[in-house]
Amino acid sequence: MPVFRILAAIGIGIASLTLNGCATTTSAGVVGADRSQLMLISSEQLEQTAAQGYTKLKNEATQKGELNKDPKLLARLRGIAQRIEPQTGVFRKDAPGWKWEVNVIDSNELNAFCMPGGKIMFYSGLVNRLQLTDAEIAVVMGHEIAHALREHSREQVSQAIAAQAALGVGSAALGLSQNAAALANVGYQALIATHFSRTDEAEADRIGLELTARAGYNPRAGVSLWQKMMNANEGGQMPEFFSSHPADSSRVQQIESLLPVVMPLYNAARR
Ligand SMILES: [Zn+2]
Repeated sequence: MPVFRILAAIGIGIASLTLNGCATTTSAGVVGADRSQLMLISSEQLEQTAAQGYTKLKNEATQKGELNKDPKLLARLRGIAQRIEPQTGVFRKDAPGWKWEVNVIDSNELNAFCMPGGKIMFYSGLVNRLQLTDAEIAVVMGHEIAHALREHSREQVSQAIAAQAALGVGSAALGLSQNAAALANVGYQALIATHFSRTDEAEADRIGLELTARAGYNPRAGVSLWQKMMNANEGGQMPEFFSSHPADSSRVQQIESLLPVVMPLYNAARR
């Protein structure tokens, strides 16, 4: 998505920027997740757009008769989320108090995401087609929640703003729209179609694995999950999830190398 559309999506111009500068969104945890981040817009700005986008997505799915059609699957996913949510406090104190939401879209797609502020969406195809165990679901969910905790979308938008500012592009030239409906539409596109960087992905894997372990799910499922994901990709059809979360054998190796760090948390959680 072009930068100006991302900017329009969050409804801001260069002139209205809150210069928050560099900060870290999370505490380190045992996996060390406190890299300093460039943040030029507020969490509130992005969260509001995310909430609008999430509502829109739910409404569209409802109209198509695709929202939460499988009560068993919905209960399963919400149960897993309820165990992970309290653990997010390790990384940031405000997160357990977020207005968390978990919903399921009935679709063959292999996809899942967590928008800023804790709005989680799973596509039934991801669980059903890959026959995910509860622990594998916890790894996916933990990973997606980690993106939200670290506010990777906010960081990406901030980097785009910084790039534009460096070029001396004024807000007028960006064609910003104040139309709320348009903002919600583009904003939701920007938020769910985010392509995360390798750094973001590695952070989300580390935090996600710690959340999985602390919630009492075996973090070894991280290995089997990504192997399943890679196998699905070999089938020729690039899963949606895979396009925004590229994986290869080095990712699986990195997850394996983290297991000695997070297994004690899992063992403690089970006691
Ligand atoms: Zn990711």
